[in-house]
Amino acid sequence: GFGLNRFLAAARPSATYKVMDRVAARRASGATVISLSAGEPDFDTPEYVREAGMAAIRAGHTRYTQVAGLRALREAIAAKFQRENGLDVDWRSTLVCSGGKQVIFNALAATLNEGDEVIVPAPYWVSYPEIVQLCGAKSVIVACGADSGFKLTPDALQAAITPRTRWLILNSPSNPTGAVYGRAELQALAEVLLAHPQVLVLSDDIYEHLIFDGVEFFTIAQVEPRLRERVLTMNGVSKAYAMTGWRIGFGTGPGWLIDAMEKLQGQQTSGASTISQYAALAALTGSQDFIRQSRVAFQRRRDLVVEQINQAPGMRCDVPQGAFYAFASCEALIGKTTQAGAHLASDEAVVNALLDEAGVATVHGSAFGLGPYIRIAYALDDESLSGACQAIQDFCRTLT
Ligand code: PLP
Repeated sequence: GFGLNRFLAAARPSATYKVMDRVAARRASGATVISLSAGEPDFDTPEYVREAGMAAIRAGHTRYTQVAGLRALREAIAAKFQRENGLDVDWRSTLVCSGGKQVIFNALAATLNEGDEVIVPAPYWVSYPEIVQLCGAKSVIVACGADSGFKLTPDALQAAITPRTRWLILNSPSNPTGAVYGRAELQALAEVLLAHPQVLVLSDDIYEHLIFDGVEFFTIAQVEPRLRERVLTMNGVSKAYAMTGWRIGFGTGPGWLIDAMEKLQGQQTSGASTISQYAALAALTGSQDFIRQSRVAFQRRRDLVVEQINQAPGMRCDVPQGAFYAFASCEALIGKTTQAGAHLASDEAVVNALLDEAGVATVHGSAFGLGPYIRIAYALDDESLSGACQAIQDFCRTLT
């Protein structure tokens, strides 16, 4: 038969897509499922942004843009980094890609060679190690448990760095834990990095605006300007403006890296969708009320979910400060048996039983590199969230 590329052959399909397939199968067989597995806001894209997309079509903005993106959008991105992150950015050192994911892919594919190492704190977004794998490099997974708030400590970072380390990936607020790094925590990591000039930093800030309790957002290039020449700051409109389907992400970093990413993109997509770029331009330059509204909604939902999950016997969940995920320990459920007779040997078994017997879809923590946990995405209306939490409580109460 035909052989696959060996790096692709060794990559695992996305665990979150697998859960979505299982949900679809359950629903097709007639079951009612509340899905707490989605990685996207449930809101519609704001009206003025949708209008801008339609206006772009009507105005005939339907041809290629420059590979790196529309100049007006790149200027708006530079202004965003200045305004919101205190980064003094020239529009020429920005790049527009087809989603935040492609920013990450471009950066890693442009720089990694076989044998290179990428430090990935766990729990991690499932795509990081797989993209590293596709690039033929090696992920160095660093376990970051509940005792450190699921965050990388300076000592753990120091211990993970080798002469082969090419990148450190940071993600705050975090998928899957909702953890947020404060200024002092980033400064302490920066101190370690300053002693290792071979290490680049990828700062995945895609959940920047979903941050609660008045906590202030910081990104590492802002906290430590001496790292600026080796930090790629990545962001996008997907989560902030409920624009996941438009596929627009962006980044800024050192000129050599942005140039290399543009070179790669020129042979891959030729650039992001023109129509979507006009919509993203409207999002970044228009009223930012939507961001405030969605933050209020998500904070309320977080409070509802965390409160109710902690009432489920055997589940424990700390209060996350950002994103739209709660990462609940299910350690006390391991070893128990469900009403239907399923043995809960792992967090994956818990997730499967919750889907089959409680009609609630979540994702197991071990898929993100740390078990036994379940990730609960609360990007749903309050009523569905309450119903799901109630079903989880009932499920936990009937275990033996
Ligand atoms: N980074 C993290 C941590 C994410 O959770 C996601 C989406 O789930 C992305 C990046 C990618 O976002 P986009 O839809 O813009 O590609």
